Amino acid sequence: MSLVEALTTHLDVPDVHEIDVYERLGGYRAARKALLEMTPEQVLGELEASGLRGRGGAGFSMGKKASFIPKGTMDKYLCCNADESEPGTFKDRLILQRKPHLLIEGCIIASIAAGANKGFIYMRGEYELQARIVERAIAQAYERGYLGRNILGSGHDFDLVLHRGQGAYICGEETALLDSLEGKRGNPRLKPPFPANQGLYRGPTLINNVETLSCTPLIIDRGADWFRSLGSEQSTGPKLVSVSGNVRRPGNYEIELGTPVREIIYDIAGGPWPGSEVKCFFPGGSSAAVLGPEHLDLPYTFEAMQQAGSMLGSGAIIVVDDTQPIVPLALRLAEFYRHESCGKCVPCREGTSWTVKLLARIERGEATPMDLDLLASIQENIIGNCLCVLGDSMAVPVSSLLRRFRAEFEEHIERARAQRERELAAAAERETGLAVLAAGSASVAGAGGD
Ligand code: SF4
Repeated sequence: MSLVEALTTHLDVPDVHEIDVYERLGGYRAARKALLEMTPEQVLGELEASGLRGRGGAGFSMGKKASFIPKGTMDKYLCCNADESEPGTFKDRLILQRKPHLLIEGCIIASIAAGANKGFIYMRGEYELQARIVERAIAQAYERGYLGRNILGSGHDFDLVLHRGQGAYICGEETALLDSLEGKRGNPRLKPPFPANQGLYRGPTLINNVETLSCTPLIIDRGADWFRSLGSEQSTGPKLVSVSGNVRRPGNYEIELGTPVREIIYDIAGGPWPGSEVKCFFPGGSSAAVLGPEHLDLPYTFEAMQQAGSMLGSGAIIVVDDTQPIVPLALRLAEFYRHESCGKCVPCREGTSWTVKLLARIERGEATPMDLDLLASIQENIIGNCLCVLGDSMAVPVSSLLRRFRAEFEEHIERARAQRERELAAAAERETGLAVLAAGSASVAGAGGD
């Protein structure tokens, strides 16, 4: 098995979320090194050399992103995206809850690379316990001098604030997150300008996911070469994966990138229950196109998932076994994205709504096979035509389910329609029976009156 311990080292040590324990286990060593022994250019160089790619969804090079932040003395910001809300994704929660100081250390290192002096952790509103833990950890880091002015006498200033979201999935989109942080409604912004040039309060801003930032202390401590020694050429390092759905051992696992998907689903997460097989799986959260059993032997890397027509995304593998009907699954998925659409652009606002209506019609047995063509065409008109990725996040998986399971959709339509006709006939029969009874009682009553 390709389980590794890098981000998850010491996870089972009691109170590892407390600064005393974290420091005793070598915590903040990387931050000290970056602050006191390295120049900002060296820190940035090490991050770039590691090949670390974003763990939040897009998979963009973290070092390259940091290098886009302009030099100069203007206010620059670091934002940690901890708004983990994608169905099936729950791996950042593990770090927030168990190793908050690893994240804070990562924020310090990234702030050095980006030249940022103010940072925000934007956390999903529902993560109440994690918010309390992170808040306490930030206070501890201030007390020990890892945050604030002239950190450890290095000359680097860095303030870090926890900001809690209010339950909108769209605020995980980086520009909506920035608007929300500024106190506005969390609506995505038109890009360009990208946050690296004009982000929070129009200042250059580096935005990274929790897991991405938490990798940086490992890179500074053990070196970029160590990080590159794990994974493949284009997908380096360890990766937290959240495995859920029809598996016997759902949970978070830390693997080496490049581990075969079959190994993750079957050996690590226990595979589907006996008697059932993998029907399909979402390799990168609910917004990824589904892949099938023929893809199980692919290495779990950004490039392999992309070549197969999907994406690694946030690293959430949702397994669907052959006992699960596809139509209700597609409907549930579409309902989620319709609910979370901010409504700012037409293809997403109307498209998600139409998709839900059509899928509900299919589910109820009121559709015809022509509705499947309409459903496919709506998805095509959404993909690539929205202001942010949310529209595609519904259209891509729905169209992949429709392509892969078209015959099942057609069978469902036939079966549900036949069922509906039987129900309507039975209801009509009941009504006729009641009418006959009513007519009978009326004539008996009439006879009694004679
Ligand atoms: Fe809003 Fe959807 Fe448009 Fe994104 S794609 S801006 S969520 S309406």
